[in-house]
Amino acid sequence: MQATCSHLDQISPDRPVPQDVCPTCVAIGSSWVHLRQCLTCGATNCCDSSPNRHATKHFQESRHPIMQTLEEGEDWAWCFVERLTMEPQDGTFQVVDPFFEAGLWYARQAIDDGGSVPFPAGAATGDGFPLALWESTYRGRHRAGTLDPDQVAELEALPGWTW
Ligand SMILES: [Zn+2]
Ligand SMILES: [Zn+2]
Ligand SMILES: [Zn+2]
Repeated sequence: MQATCSHLDQISPDRPVPQDVCPTCVAIGSSWVHLRQCLTCGATNCCDSSPNRHATKHFQESRHPIMQTLEEGEDWAWCFVERLTMEPQDGTFQVVDPFFEAGLWYARQAIDDGGSVPFPAGAATGDGFPLALWESTYRGRHRAGTLDPDQVAELEALPGWTW
């Protein structure tokens, strides 16, 4: 897991403001579901749930690597090349790791409920989250030296956590 994508230098700070339509769809009389903006050239295009998938086509034609959602209340971005979901953070983008975040939440719950780390082999939550697998995944990354420093800090903040 990497802390961010290697294409952030292709984000242009002075790209045009996004549009509230997919202009390519408008031009062909089609419609779209969600809108995305290319963070390199600023083009507004439609998402992969839309019939024409213009954001993906824009990437294939231009090789502009990163798009960001234009949906209200969302701010995630996606690197087409590395297939990474990112969130804006401190003026840049950080890779999102939903498995880590979910496991952290479940681990806190389990510890609150009287459990302790390390979780027993095969441990899972009542609703099926694989706690033991989660723990071994991030311990493995720590051993390999590839664990994100923020994730190290969050794990070390769990009561009773030791490496
Ligand atoms: Zn990338
Ligand atoms: Zn479109
Ligand atoms: Zn572009």
